[in-house]
Amino acid sequence: MSSTATKDHAELAAIFNRDEPRVDWHDETLWWVRAKRDIAAHKLPEWELLRETASQIKNNVLSNLSTYLEQFEANAIKNGVTVHWAADAEEHNQIVHKLLSERGINRMVKSKSMLTEECHLNEFLAQRGFDVIDSDLGERIVQLAGEPPSHIVLPCIHKKKEEIGDIFHEHLGSAKGESDPKILTETARQHLREVFLTRRAALTGVNFAIAETGEFVICTNEGNADMGAHLAEIHIASMGMEKIIPERKHLGVFLRLLTRSATGQPITTYSSHFAKPQDGKEIHIVIVDNGRSIQLGREDFRNSLKCIRCGACMNTCPVYRKSGGHSYHTAVAGPIGSILAPNLDMKKYADLPFASTLCGSCSNVCPVKIDIHDQLYKWRQVIVKAGYTPTAKTIAMKGMAFTLASPTLYRAAGKMGRLTFKYAPFAVNNGANPWYKHREMPKAPEQSFGEWYAKRKEQKK
Ligand code: SF4
Repeated sequence: MSSTATKDHAELAAIFNRDEPRVDWHDETLWWVRAKRDIAAHKLPEWELLRETASQIKNNVLSNLSTYLEQFEANAIKNGVTVHWAADAEEHNQIVHKLLSERGINRMVKSKSMLTEECHLNEFLAQRGFDVIDSDLGERIVQLAGEPPSHIVLPCIHKKKEEIGDIFHEHLGSAKGESDPKILTETARQHLREVFLTRRAALTGVNFAIAETGEFVICTNEGNADMGAHLAEIHIASMGMEKIIPERKHLGVFLRLLTRSATGQPITTYSSHFAKPQDGKEIHIVIVDNGRSIQLGREDFRNSLKCIRCGACMNTCPVYRKSGGHSYHTAVAGPIGSILAPNLDMKKYADLPFASTLCGSCSNVCPVKIDIHDQLYKWRQVIVKAGYTPTAKTIAMKGMAFTLASPTLYRAAGKMGRLTFKYAPFAVNNGANPWYKHREMPKAPEQSFGEWYAKRKEQKK
């Protein structure tokens, strides 16, 4: 059996689907979150105007990205912040490593940052003897479980509270069999309090970086980013280069959209602004490209960089809800992850744009109006042309194209198919046919539509 690292979305989804009750509550929970998002959105008569405004602001940012980045850098430096540029994940990790090493720090607290997941920072630092503790509750749970997050906003949505109780019992010493969320949260609180008080370095993500002022904003519901950053001597903020917004006044648009789209809340509990370091402390921002400028140059896919990581496209996606985040084998799962990942490695993530029904629900809920399902469809074409589809599929599609191009061959194939269904159904209805695993195969018709039509025409003469 191949390792999970070599399995594609369908194979990993099949693993998730072995536990049917889990699939059901995963599906229902995310749909509940989606419904909360709908209620929150419908309460604002100006919702569509907000989406359109956010989309236009981000279009402007993408068209003038280098200008806004340089403006942000200049203002951040004026504020006393140190700005670093990282071309890729490796350089980002090296910068963080150097900042810690130079200060003799080997323990760091980290708040939720999908960029550091994308860069595999935790593994990078762990291999070099550094201790990194994730302070977002969901992230800490998956970190203790030795798993990556399965959702960008709800990292441990795939875990039952009883499983979390077992993890806490093993790692944090809670009572065996304890699964009361309040008690488990208190256990995590006590554990993390000690971490916050003893770490000299804190790393956070960045939700929005304001070019006009050089400040950046981090949104959390737990206040963990603030706690880590305010107590540590050095605050490192890892920022994807698309996180820029031009002016502070634009924040109102995005903050109103972000949490309503994510969880149905009117606003994140903490939307914290960081502008300048406190006396005797340091703030470093690492601005990361890691394939973003390549995506910016792909006309059909550039506006995926408008994403504000609200997770709404995941919550609404029927494939995500039924297959779980880990089946996407990339840091950002779901519909948006399936657009972003092939940009980083088209061969490795060739399966992901096919993990969609193309129903368009993702595009309908996206607060910044990314044409997600259109891009998924476009990626399929790019991937097929580049020759990254599995050999069996490539051969089958070529055979199908050949057959459909010839009416005689098409009719003969249809007849053969009907006869096979009738006299040798086992040739189709067997375990080697993935469609048969979950579907009743249809009864074969006696004749083709063409034959039926010709007969009717004859009878009517
Ligand atoms: S693509 Fe849109 S809906 Fe999906 S996470 Fe990004 S902003 Fe949210």
